[in-house]
Amino acid sequence: SIYSDYIKSVIRTVPDWPQPGVNFRDITPVLQNSAAFRKLIDSFVHRYQEMEIDAIAAIDARGFIIGAPLAYELGCSFVPVRKKGKLPFKTISETYTLEYGESTVELHSDAFREGDRILVMDDLIATGGTMLAACKLIERTGGIVVETAAIIDLPELGGSAKIREEGHSVFAACS
Ligand code: IMP
Repeated sequence: SIYSDYIKSVIRTVPDWPQPGVNFRDITPVLQNSAAFRKLIDSFVHRYQEMEIDAIAAIDARGFIIGAPLAYELGCSFVPVRKKGKLPFKTISETYTLEYGESTVELHSDAFREGDRILVMDDLIATGGTMLAACKLIERTGGIVVETAAIIDLPELGGSAKIREEGHSVFAACS
């Protein structure tokens, strides 16, 4: 993206967190730095303003932080994809496997209309399991996944390749 190198330079890598051997990408320094946060949101606005996005489906919880200001700027809907048990109305759910165990994401069943053009947002793509589960939920409601987007992609973990194999486009602000 237009500010890719700058945003990347502000992201912090925390070694051995949450467990030994993991290099955790921490976006909080970007949020603390108003110029960096603005450039991050602007790079998404720049990419999506002409793509006729009807709604942003943002993934719990860091996807919300970027998804909400982007929805405001694009003038589109904001829809949360949440971890199990958080949404109060009628939901649909998808369970997917993690390295250890499994996880479930949920969506309100009335979140989208048939044919709505959806942008799916999260902070980071690792194995791609979370993003693909969100895409499945969206397609079950009749929505069209225009693209999946994140601040960071870790291509060595194969997630973005897997998402593309499933027929979805992938965009990362830092790549
Ligand atoms: P995946 O499902 O394996 O692609 O993992 C992506 C999900 O895990 C996203 O919702 C991220 O928020 C979270 N995640 C995994 N690794 C990191 C990291 O290094 N930094 C921030 N979030 C991460």
